[in-house]
Amino acid sequence: MRPVVIAIDGPAGAGKSTIAKALARDLGIAYLDTGAMYRGVTFAVLRKGLSATDVDAVGRVAQAVEFAQTTDALYVDDVDATAAIRSPEVDAAVSHIAANSVVRDEMRLRQRQWIADHNGGVVEGRDIGSVVFPDATLKVYLVATPLVRAERRVAQHGGDVAEIARAIAERDERD
Ligand code: C5P
Repeated sequence: MRPVVIAIDGPAGAGKSTIAKALARDLGIAYLDTGAMYRGVTFAVLRKGLSATDVDAVGRVAQAVEFAQTTDALYVDDVDATAAIRSPEVDAAVSHIAANSVVRDEMRLRQRQWIADHNGGVVEGRDIGSVVFPDATLKVYLVATPLVRAERRVAQHGGDVAEIARAIAERDERD
C-alpha cells in the first residue's frame, strides 16, 4: 500500500506549521517542515561566509549539509540552528537559496526519501502538493490575509506588525 502523504502548502504565516503539527500528532504519523530545510541550507551558507547568490557554492553546500530534524528542532552539521533559522538574516536570504535549482533538486530527493523512511507523514511547504508529492493522499492549501499572517508572526517571534508585514510581502514576491 502507498504511504499516506498529507501535503500542507501556503504562504508564510498562514498557519501551516500549527495545522501540520496538530494533524501529525492526532494521526500518530511523522511531521516534516520543508521550510526548515531551506532555512537550514541558508544557515549553513551564511555560517560559511558564502554569498546566497553564489550558485555553485550554494549548490555544493546543499548537497553536503547534514540535518537532524525533529518536530521542534533542527541541527545543521551538528549545530543547533533551531532559533537561528528564524532570524531576520535567514528570512532575507532564504528565497535566494530556494531559487537555486541544485538546492531544490537535493531537497526534493531528501523529502521523498524521508517519506519512504517514515512510511508516510504530514509534509509542510510551498511546493509539496504541486511538485514534490503531486499524488499526495490529501492536499491542503492554507491562506490568510497579509495582516493576519503578520500578526501571527509577531505573536510567535515579536516585532512590529507593519515591518513584519512588509518583510512577508517581500518574501512572497521573491518566492
Ligand atoms: O515555510 P517557510 O516560510 O519557513 O519557508 C521558508 C522559505 O523556504 C520560503 O520563503 C521559500 O523560499 C522556501 N521554501 C521553498 N519550498 C518549500 C518550503 C520552503 O521554496 N517546500
